[in-house]
Amino acid sequence: MNQDILSWARSLYMYPKENRSEVNDLFSKTKDRDITKRGVIWLGQTCNLRCFFCYFTDKIRDKDHPEHAFMSLEKAKKICYTLRTVYGNTAIDIQGGEPTIYPEIFELIKYCCDIGLEPTLITNGIVLASEDKCKKFKDAGVKDFLLSVHGLGKTYDKVVGLDGGSKKQMKALYNLQKLDIPFRLNCTMTKDVVDEIENVATLSIETGALVVNFIAFNPFADQQGENGRSTENVPNYSKIKNHLSIAIDRLEEAGIETNVRYLPMCMAEKRHLKNFYNFQQLSYDPHEWDYNSWTWTTRVNQRSNSPDLDRPIPILMYEIDEYNGIKFGDAAKHGNRVHYLLDINLEEHLLKMFTAAIPKDLLYRQNGRLRAEKHCKYQYNDTCKVCGLRLICDGFHSDYSSIFGTSEAKAFDIELIDDPKYFIKEQEKIVY
Ligand code: SF4
Repeated sequence: MNQDILSWARSLYMYPKENRSEVNDLFSKTKDRDITKRGVIWLGQTCNLRCFFCYFTDKIRDKDHPEHAFMSLEKAKKICYTLRTVYGNTAIDIQGGEPTIYPEIFELIKYCCDIGLEPTLITNGIVLASEDKCKKFKDAGVKDFLLSVHGLGKTYDKVVGLDGGSKKQMKALYNLQKLDIPFRLNCTMTKDVVDEIENVATLSIETGALVVNFIAFNPFADQQGENGRSTENVPNYSKIKNHLSIAIDRLEEAGIETNVRYLPMCMAEKRHLKNFYNFQQLSYDPHEWDYNSWTWTTRVNQRSNSPDLDRPIPILMYEIDEYNGIKFGDAAKHGNRVHYLLDINLEEHLLKMFTAAIPKDLLYRQNGRLRAEKHCKYQYNDTCKVCGLRLICDGFHSDYSSIFGTSEAKAFDIELIDDPKYFIKEQEKIVY
């Protein structure tokens, strides 16, 4: 752990504990595992940073890209209304690009509160270095912030492309403590950031973060293809494992909810399997996105500033050809246009889904498998065939396995587990 960086950061983020109200006491913990009701909106890929690992890096660089400009407030409200009334979502993650620079952000936050959609902003926190701005967000009704803290000091500045960025972020954390605004942290584990994992844990404990998410550097969206992923910037999982294990122990001891996303489960110490979320587990994290509404919001018309909106569509089915005697035919197949339900009769399909009464747990589990197996083409190692977790673990992302292979896999010599909640149901999660 780099003590110099930590001392520097502390001098900026430390807020006297005795001056803080008991904001964290407002929250309780639960081991209930229900399907999440949180939706997501992307307002447009306009941002005040240039993180090299961003899923939307091409759209952010290219001002002419259809998804670059922010959408109108009117369109954003329509999307939020659909999430609430059609999909039954009760919380929303508002993303940009960077949502704090969206011109009508305060009005959008108020609107979400009015319709029963508790708003979180996923932010780099740079704007929150202004105490005045933080106050405005609080007054507008923001539920909490999810701040992306990818290391401290120069490490952070390098990966996000802004000199002085970390200093601003530490000031933001100070402000959030001072104003009693709840926050959670995300940390994307690129190669530069891995050595900072324990520092991020310390920062989380000392600032009172409610939750910390450690996320694998994934090749989603614009990170696929030409953006230069290699051993230069992708860390191998074994190295991550060592740092993560120390960080999780410390965070658990401090009572901070800790989640690890998209890593093969054998990268967890057995005691930390409850903290590991692959695609089959994500739906049981109330701070993750509802696969049902996400299927709709992820489509281009819901992410661009064009006036068009798609009709709402249901969660994509996967390998459920028949249920309760109802046959789903093409709608259950993964593929080209059929995959997006453009070529099927939507009303007929919805009626079938309603009649078949497929349990939500099954629908969401299969959708999680679709994302891992078909969308991301996760790979298993030969040893996975004898692993007790092979039915609930995604394995290795195809991109990672093309760089490093899958030889780090280590089978769990335990009885075969077929319940995605088997381990995570032992984790205490924050509810509010
Ligand atoms: S299924 Fe494979 S990748 Fe997953 S925990 Fe087992 S050995 Fe590791």
